[in-house]
Amino acid sequence: MTRHTSKPTSTHVSGSCLCGRVRMQVAEFDTQVVACHCSQCRKQTGSYYHAASVLDSNLTMEGREFVKEYAASDFAKRGFCSECGSALYWKQNDADTTSVMVGHFDNPTGLRTIGHIFVDDMGDYYTLDPELPQYPQSDT
Ligand SMILES: [Zn+2]
Ligand SMILES: [Zn+2]
Repeated sequence: MTRHTSKPTSTHVSGSCLCGRVRMQVAEFDTQVVACHCSQCRKQTGSYYHAASVLDSNLTMEGREFVKEYAASDFAKRGFCSECGSALYWKQNDADTTSVMVGHFDNPTGLRTIGHIFVDDMGDYYTLDPELPQYPQSDT
């Protein structure tokens, strides 16, 4: 996932995985939320995911010893909690940003979904908001 030009949010949000062993705090998101419908995201999360990019310097993660990473592709890794299985983030190798799956964060997040990517791969059991941009593959 690439960096987006939409206005970032500056609220401090925090949240955790399902079991609470991994906790994340974000000082400022780099992008708003993008929904990814690729088959990898669907398989990892059980459906599609909502993620927002964060500069690593704005991301605090506690309980990293519980985080396992899986390389579903040769250019990125997917972090998840080894205890409860919650999908936590997607991170391109050597990038200084992390795409954090925003379902972990407590309301209010101040975030909003701005588009859907990889809709060519989306499941046939749900529909999308027609007001939002949809991209067949990535958004670039
Ligand atoms: Zn957990
Ligand atoms: Zn995806």
